[in-house]
Amino acid sequence: MSCIFCKIIAKEIPAEIIYEDEDILAFRDINPLAPVHVLVVPKRHVESINDLKEKDAELVGKMIIIAKKIATDLQTSQNGYKLLFRTGEWGGQEVPHIHLHLIGGARLAEEIHPA
Ligand code: AMP
Ligand code: ZN
Repeated sequence: MSCIFCKIIAKEIPAEIIYEDEDILAFRDINPLAPVHVLVVPKRHVESINDLKEKDAELVGKMIIIAKKIATDLQTSQNGYKLLFRTGEWGGQEVPHIHLHLIGGARLAEEIHPA
């Protein structure tokens, strides 16, 4: 198993875990882009959005609901935040295990433009 997020899920390498249930682990990003930067990760290894099947709709919906709960718990829901799935090379995805970024705790600049 070479996937770094699978290793975090297996507790083989440490992370600052914010939320855990049978399907999902959420932990703080090691290189935060804002005061709140949490990754919401399914425990099952799925490489990217491109690999999702129809039957995964419930899991992805759960990831978003958990991100909302964490945003509320970390007091960033009132002011607002960003949820981001990077996908593949052009989308800037570096870790090939699907993850939802929750980024908040500050007013965020617009950052979407061609490189
Ligand atoms: P992405 O570019 O969307 O694939 O995002 C990968 C994210 O994972 C980056 O924001 C990294 O800072 C973060 N990351 C990489 N390794 C770790 C780790 N060991 N613990 C927590 N976050 C990590
Ligand atoms: Zn994995």
